[in-house]
Order: sequence, then C-alpha cells, then structure tokens
Amino acid sequence: MTADLIVINIGILLTPKVDKGPVRGKDMDIVEEYQNAFLAVKDGKFIDYGTHDFQHLVGDDTEVVDAEGRLVTPGLVDSHTHVVHGGSREYEFEQKMRGVPYLDILKAGGGIHSTVKMTREISKEGLYAQSKKSLDFMLGFGVTTVEGKSGYGLELETELKQLEVQRELHENHPIDIVSTFMGAHALPVAYKSKRKDFLDKVIGMFDTVKQRELAEFVDIFCEDGAFDVADSRYLLEAAKKHGFKLKIHADEVVALGGVPLAAHLKAHSADHLMAIDEAGLRALAHSDVIANLLPSTSFYLNSDYAPARKMIERNLALALSSDYNPGSSPSENFLFTLNLAAIHMKMSPNEILTAATYNAAYGIDRADEIGRIAKGYKADFVIYDAPNWPYVLYHFAINHVKDVFKMGIKVIENKQKVWEAKQ
Ligand SMILES: [Zn+2]
Repeated sequence: MTADLIVINIGILLTPKVDKGPVRGKDMDIVEEYQNAFLAVKDGKFIDYGTHDFQHLVGDDTEVVDAEGRLVTPGLVDSHTHVVHGGSREYEFEQKMRGVPYLDILKAGGGIHSTVKMTREISKEGLYAQSKKSLDFMLGFGVTTVEGKSGYGLELETELKQLEVQRELHENHPIDIVSTFMGAHALPVAYKSKRKDFLDKVIGMFDTVKQRELAEFVDIFCEDGAFDVADSRYLLEAAKKHGFKLKIHADEVVALGGVPLAAHLKAHSADHLMAIDEAGLRALAHSDVIANLLPSTSFYLNSDYAPARKMIERNLALALSSDYNPGSSPSENFLFTLNLAAIHMKMSPNEILTAATYNAAYGIDRADEIGRIAKGYKADFVIYDAPNWPYVLYHFAINHVKDVFKMGIKVIENKQKVWEAKQ
C-alpha cells in the first residue's frame, strides 16, 4: 500500500501518549516525541508515522510535503464553544472594564439575554455567514474539530436554527462540529418564578432535536442565577432517557454540586470548574468525566483560573477549550487559550498538548477518531512555523500555525485559506 500524502523532514512530531480512557494526572505530561520524523496518510487517515524508513509507502501518485524541520502536532480540538450566535456585545465591554460582575449584568437583562434577542432576530443566512467567519479564524489557529452549542434561542425555532446552521457548517466547512443542545443555557425573564415550567419546555424540545439528529449532547448552565443542582438533575436525567450524551457548565462562580452530579450521571465533561470544591475533585478523580477548563473566560472576566495543578495532583483528566462566546470569551484564538493555560494555570507544554487534543476529543466522544497522530485516526494535523511546542506557548498571542491539514487535505497554506478554492 502506498500513501496519498507523506510529510517528510518533520523537526519534531508531538502526539499525546494514550493508554486507555482519558489521560489523567501526571500522565498528561508524557507525550510521544519523534525528531526528524515523517507521517503518511491514505484515504484521509494516518497509516504510519515515526522515524523509520518510509520509502515503501511512496508511490507514483504520492504527494510529498517537506516540513523543512518544523513542528507538527495533531489538529487541535476546541471542545467547548458557543460559536453559532447572532451579533456581538462590545457595548457591554465598558461595564465589564468597570468591574460589574457578570451575574449583575445578567440580572439587568443584559449578557446572554441580549445575545438571545440578536440570535432570534438574525436570518439563518446571516447566522451562517457570521459563524463561518468564526470557524475560518479557528481553522487558522490550528483547530480542526469544535464542539458547538445552541442556547441563544431558549425557544424551539431559534434553537433549531442554531443547530441547523451548525450542521450545515459541519458539512460545508473543513472544521468538524460536534453539536450540543443547550436549551437550558439561561432562564428567560418571563419564566423567572417558573423554572420547572421552562425546564419542561426544554425537555419538550428533545424529541424534535433527536428526530432531526441535530445534536448528540445536552448541556445545562448549573450556577447561581441560572439553574440549580435539582434543575440540572431533572433536565439531564430526561436527556439521558432520550439518548443524549451529557455535559454540564458547573462551578464557574459557586460550587453548587453540579460536578458530583456529572460524575453520577456519567457525563462526558464538566466545564469551567474555577470554583471546584473537594467534593467535585473527589468525584472527578473517580470517574472518566473530563474536567474541561476555559482559561480565556477567566482572562476576559478578570476572575480566578481553575486550579489545574491541584487537579493534576488529584489525577483528574483535563481538557482546555476557548469557550468562544460573545459575552465572556469573545475570541476564537485557541492558541491564546493555551498560552493562558501555561502562564496562569502553570500547566506544562506537554499537559497542554494532551488537554487540547486527545482529552478534548475524549470529552466529545471522539477519542477513537481524532486528537492524536496514530494509525487509523483522521489525518488532521498542523505544521507550525516554530521550532518546538514550548516556543508556541512562550511566544504568546502570535499565530504560529503555518499549514493545517484536515483528513490529509491542506486547508490552510502559509496562513492563507486554500480550502474554498479547492471546493
Ligand atoms: Zn459555555
């Protein structure tokens, strides 16, 4: 068998070291590293890689790419985003700069409620165009798969519009999108004293979402000012009965008990966790729930960072995500998220790589397809204009991504989008 594509002269090829289950605790710091390496692709998947002889894989039709000594990693996986939404919230920026807490903005009908209004009002075409632009940014930063949530409709029509746009983009854009239905993202003001009614309304949408195969996960915002643990249990148990996989926004401001609930219900991830307590740490240490950390949000809100070092000591499996959204993390720059994980959460370069690839894939139930360079995995990978991975994290807020390949096809070349011209 000969390869469709071989990348030669890879200065350093880095990929997570995987055993079974998510990579936990101190194992996150151990990665596979090959110097002067190659990788080979056939039918969109890796068929070989390493430092051994590859001449037998080179045929007449094999395309050979010279990496000229550069760094290569798997395509990055951004496993928590709210990429599909209408409008933007720069008008709130000044309030935030003055230190008004997010929950106060929310209570005043701003924050998420204003994005809900804009997402309801925007046309489907407008929503598609805005979201595609965001995905283009993400791809340019080396992201080849994202998770995306609905949750800016809070009623059926707009929730479906968001999910349909996500599906169209999944089909048309090089980035793969894993969809999450998050009808319980916030409590509409009209339901202020009728939380249970709203939850039943969201649960009533499950059948339609499921029948149209618009989402595989359900998520809820478990926090003071949003939904409590009893609400979250009620909704997530119903979601599980409907055949959805589960996620939860928990412990962003207060540790209410959403994290032990995630472990109890065997959710795929618990996300945010800045305020995680002992019960949460213990629950995650004894489950395969990914602790999905979102340092861009802490940066933007000027708030605490999740205690990544403590979590690693306690043998948790960590992922990192941008949380790209119009309110608390308005940036698609996933490399900057990783910079923050190094600078503010003191994660090592290898831990960050593991968290941003394989563990992220685990949290969206794609660990057998993406997130590592391994035989049979999708040939999603990034060539950096950088000598090594620590350099990418140290030289911060710069896009070091040179080329991006999605299933063996070059979609970004010398920082330029080339995929649309090929379609
Ligand atoms: Zn979120």
